[in-house]
Amino acid sequence: MWSFRVRGGVKLQYHKELSSEKAVVPMPLPRRLYLPLQQHIGAPALPVVVVGDTVLKGQLIAKAAPGLSAPVHASSSGTVVAIEEYVAPHPSGLRQKTIVIDTDGQDRWAELPKPITDDFPLGVTPAELNSRVAAAGIVGMGGAAFPSAVKLDLKSRYQLDTLLINGAECEPYLTCDDRLMREEAAAVIDGVRILAYALEVQSVVFAIERNKPQALAAIREAARVEPWIKVMALPTRFPMGSERHLVLACTGRETPSRKLTADIGVVVHNVATARAVARTVRSGEPLISRVVTVSGRGIREPANINVPLGTLVEDLLVFCGGLHPVPHKLIGGGPMMGAPLPSVQVPVVKGTSGVLALTADEVNDGAESPCIRCGSCVSACPCGLVPLEMAQLVRRGDLQGAQAIGLQDCVSCGSCSFICPSHIPLSHYFNFAKGQLGALDRDSRRQDRIRSLIQARNERAAREAEAKKAAAAARKAAKAAAAAASAAAPVDTPASQLEEST
Ligand code: SF4
Ligand code: SF4
Repeated sequence: MWSFRVRGGVKLQYHKELSSEKAVVPMPLPRRLYLPLQQHIGAPALPVVVVGDTVLKGQLIAKAAPGLSAPVHASSSGTVVAIEEYVAPHPSGLRQKTIVIDTDGQDRWAELPKPITDDFPLGVTPAELNSRVAAAGIVGMGGAAFPSAVKLDLKSRYQLDTLLINGAECEPYLTCDDRLMREEAAAVIDGVRILAYALEVQSVVFAIERNKPQALAAIREAARVEPWIKVMALPTRFPMGSERHLVLACTGRETPSRKLTADIGVVVHNVATARAVARTVRSGEPLISRVVTVSGRGIREPANINVPLGTLVEDLLVFCGGLHPVPHKLIGGGPMMGAPLPSVQVPVVKGTSGVLALTADEVNDGAESPCIRCGSCVSACPCGLVPLEMAQLVRRGDLQGAQAIGLQDCVSCGSCSFICPSHIPLSHYFNFAKGQLGALDRDSRRQDRIRSLIQARNERAAREAEAKKAAAAARKAAKAAAAAASAAAPVDTPASQLEEST
């Protein structure tokens, strides 16, 4: 059924041994939590609390905005002490609206939705499950942070037949999904069954890279009673975890350019997302914590930690014994697709899979030199693009030209930058260009909307003027008709006058 026709990619040094044998440990509750309103792709959530409010663990503190969005819940009990701009976990270092909670140390739960304990078939409809996943604020936890309920709803627009569970975890250093599969295989498989039920698909493929033999064994064992779930061991090659490459490797189906995997009948969810879905269905708990790998040779005690969302990276580093020596780079996520952290003061959010403190010899950094046209980036690109040409176009500011040769098909895997002997930060150029094009697109959609509002206002004014004119004409006509009617009526001569005149 499957083939490894994935082209390009790179062979990496994985360094997973630093944390793969570290069982997940709970993070002590921090004194203060910072919960950004935007922890997902889409519009920021809208606060439903004000400064001074007392909140309970799991309580809704910001509801989803209309359209693509996800709500935010308090990850512990305490008091809202600020709703203000705070540094975002993004390389831009830009600030974004954040709800700040001083925890009270009691970790008191809010009342949660009733657990659904039925075995399959579940006593709820797929639509009810979707609403529960949406209300729990679950987003893709592999890094993309796409609201999961929106993905579950794709069945209303696409012919879906396959759910693909992404347990590849192809980024070096990261082991949070590996540990989750090893330690909570039954919950992960329960989540997979729930997702398949919500999506109404019959076929499930669970994909794991071969460098996680224990996770493969645990998931195979947990899925033994579900023969319709196919567990597949994938070769270890970056970026095997990229959605469209995973789909190609596991189903042989190629996602057309600028299309979704849903266009070819496949929806992909991450293992941590599956576990979060199981948790919200079985216990009512919204997404308020996640497993994070803290690793790299710049950290004293690499670990896998179950972290309440909103905990500062600084607190995580302290919990892991601190930095040693001072790292060359601090990264949020994996070293290939993650991004440098602007500060240790940023919070852990729903999409934070890792925090890496890398020393200089772990980083493939070097002074940038001119392109020698070696073609390595072209061979490495799993999307069949020509990174050197795209980068030249982006440098010249010709974003449309870069788009014409496939910029939007770039999955930001970083393979080209990694392989480049001239240390040209190719994928940074592409991320920048995609950001610019996104901003231009948003701007043009905003202009279109303004134009259509102005046009609607003009049309309304014209309609109102027309209606006024018609009403005035009708009044005038009615008046004229009344006058004509009164002129045409026979004169009513009183009887006395008649008598006199005869
Ligand atoms: S890998 Fe670097 S040096 Fe080689 S062709 Fe690509 S951009 Fe040029
Ligand atoms: S161009 Fe994009 S998809 Fe191709 S290797 Fe570079 S980052 Fe990856």
